[in-house]
Parts: sequence; structure tokens; C-alpha cells
Amino acid sequence: MCLENCNKVLEDNLVAQCGRCGKCRSVCPVFKELRAEPYVARGKVQLYKALLNGTLEATERYRELISFCLLCGQCTENCPNGVETEKIVLRARNKLVDSRGLPFIKRNVFQHMLKNNGRLNRAAGMLYLFQRLGLRSLVRKTGLLPGPLKNMEQLLPAFAARPLRSQLPAVINPPGRVKIKVGYFTGCLSQYVFTETGKNVARILSRAGAQVLIPEQYCCGMPALTAGDRMNTAALARMNITAFQDAGVEVVITDCATCGSAWQNKYPELLGEELPFRAMDISQFLAQWGLPETFGLPQAPVPVTYHDPCHLARYMQVREEPRVLLRGISGVEFTEMREADRCCGASGSFQLEHQDVAARIGERKINSILATGARVVATGCPSCRLQLARLLQGIDADIAVVHPLDLVR
Ligand code: SF4
Ligand code: SF4
Repeated sequence: MCLENCNKVLEDNLVAQCGRCGKCRSVCPVFKELRAEPYVARGKVQLYKALLNGTLEATERYRELISFCLLCGQCTENCPNGVETEKIVLRARNKLVDSRGLPFIKRNVFQHMLKNNGRLNRAAGMLYLFQRLGLRSLVRKTGLLPGPLKNMEQLLPAFAARPLRSQLPAVINPPGRVKIKVGYFTGCLSQYVFTETGKNVARILSRAGAQVLIPEQYCCGMPALTAGDRMNTAALARMNITAFQDAGVEVVITDCATCGSAWQNKYPELLGEELPFRAMDISQFLAQWGLPETFGLPQAPVPVTYHDPCHLARYMQVREEPRVLLRGISGVEFTEMREADRCCGASGSFQLEHQDVAARIGERKINSILATGARVVATGCPSCRLQLARLLQGIDADIAVVHPLDLVR
């Protein structure tokens, strides 16, 4: 009873903060495209209020409206009353899951795939073969796939031949004395797609004097959390914390903004306890720890720009560190883009469900990139990286999209 009352007070406070000033309308990327009240923070607050007091029900239409949020945090950053729309949207999605359940595919993926590395490895292996054997273009030509699956297939990244963790030892020692024991949380995209980035991260950490520990680990859980599934996210959080605690790490390092934010913000919030070690993005760690000596691009100077992932810039307050890192790499001619921290429209499953809106939001980012004349865009989020690469490819722009550490020799 007490818990119920406390939750009610918390939820009332969350929605009561909104003064309905409408300032969020000027910054929300979704509102800019769709121009209707349910798509902006103020509308989301009212939608949640209506669900709480029973004037709206958890219908499919309601679910659809709540799905139109990138969780980018731009509204919260600019809200005079500090309304945490991201929390409100996640609570609404959680209530939807409580009353309607999850769709069949999501339920099975969150419950049975994300916690089982063997199954994930097999699925990634099959997708690699599917792409490698040319089945992808065959399927595209024949138009065999129905609408939603076709959208998913188009967004599929190129899978690596082997998962990253099967290519790296569980313990990597530095060339000299061990100065610190770090745990490398590879995240699913470095594990299955950007394996070269993962190898760079491990190499640079060990060159900086760290013993790199890579224990058996699991998805960070953010795909489940953003779909409203707190239960499976909490289970994954517990499994990951235990894995790194048992390995005896002093700090967990991430190379993905979303994973980093899961560790820094969501795990303590979900479990109601502090982490037993620090968790940091690789750029944060290197800014504090010091860069290894031999940094630099092998080629002639290259103009490079940087895109701030929402989870790094707004959730983890990591803005300066990647820029310091990039400016410190010889051969990088760093140039800022306009609105570098504006969301690129990727936001995990948002781009799956709202591909057209995500692409329209991304176009503005692409224009900012093109205006810099950069030949390389660096970003610390693999999901942004995929979105930017796809959009740049779509206009035949010869601009590479990389993780900042990929530029380190
Ligand atoms: S800016 Fe904040 S207070 Fe103003 S309408 Fe938006 S959410 Fe409400
Ligand atoms: S989190 Fe981003 S997309 Fe969602 S309402 Fe706020 S500004 Fe709009």
C-alpha cells in the first residue's frame, strides 16, 4: 500500500511539473516533422496524465503515439521546469507492457535471446551468411518479404564473420606494468557488427597500461527498457554487474553511448543501488587516464567532424572528452558542425518503427555534416553510426563514419 502511494506521488510529481509553456515545441525533432501536440513533450505529459487518471486507455493508438519519441532529452534540457519527459515516456511504455503485454517477437527476443549468448551468436552467424551468400539482394529483388520485415531487412547492418569476443582473449595484459584493471563491455554492436572498433578499443586500453578483462557478458538491456520491459532489463543489469564484479574490475569501459548510459544511469535507477565500480565511456576514461603516446592517423591531414550521441551528451554529460581526443590525434583537422548535439533520428527501435520520420530527422544532420566539408564523421554511438552511414550512402557522399578510436593508429 505504502509503495503504491509513493509511486503515485512520484508519478503525480512527474506530470505536475509541466507548466504547459510549449518551449519544448521549439526543440523536439519529432514535433518539427509532425507538427501535432501528441508528438511533443507537453503532449506526452498530458497523454501520461490521462492514462494515470483513466481518461485514456492503453489502446493500440495510445501505444503508437507514445512510440513517437526518440528519448533524445532535448526537451528536458530546454524545459524551464525540468520536466523529465524521457522518464514519463518510459513509464507510459512500461504501463502499456503491464496491461497489453509485449508483441510476440519482442517478448521472445528480450526473454530468450538477449540473455543467451549462444542463441545470439547463432542468429548473428545466420545473418552474416544470409548477407554473404547474396541472399540479401535476391530477397530484395524478388520482393518476398512483407512490409515490416522489409523495413527491418533494409536497416540490417553488415554482420561480422565472427563475434568480437570470440576473437579476443578474456584477459589482455598491457606491455608494461598493470596500472589498472578495466572491464570492457563490448555491447551488441561492437560484438556483432563493428568488431574492428572493438579491437581498437581493447588495443588502446592495453597500450594505456590497463589490464583489459572481457568476461562473458550480455546485452545492456536498453532495447528492452525502451520498449517498456523493465523486468528483463533489470535481469540483464544484474547479470552484467555480477559478471564484471566476479572478474574483479575497477572500472567498466563502454564504447557505445547507449550501453554507457545503461551502466551509468539506468542500472542504479532500476536496481535501486550504486554500482560496485565506476562505469565510463572510453573517451571519458582516456581523458582522465591520459592518452597513450603514439596517437595519429597514418595519412595526410583529414577534415573530421563529430556528432554528439544523445546518450553521451545529455545523459552522461560527455561532450568535451571526444573532442579533446579527436583534436589530440595528429592528422585530424577537427571542424565543428552546426547543431552537433541534435538527435540524428536513429534512437534504436524508433528507426525501425518510424523509418520515414527517422530519415527526415536525419536529413538535417546530414546537411550539417555536408556543410563542414569533412571527409570523416566520428561518433561514439554505433546506432547513430549506422543511421549516418546509411543516409550518407543514400546520397552517394564519400564520407566515412567511424568511432573516434578508429582514427587512432
Ligand atoms: S517546456 Fe517543459 S514545462 Fe514547458 S510545455 Fe514543455 S514539458 Fe511542459
Ligand atoms: S525526448 Fe526528444 S523526441 Fe521525445 S519529446 Fe523530448 S525532444 Fe521530443
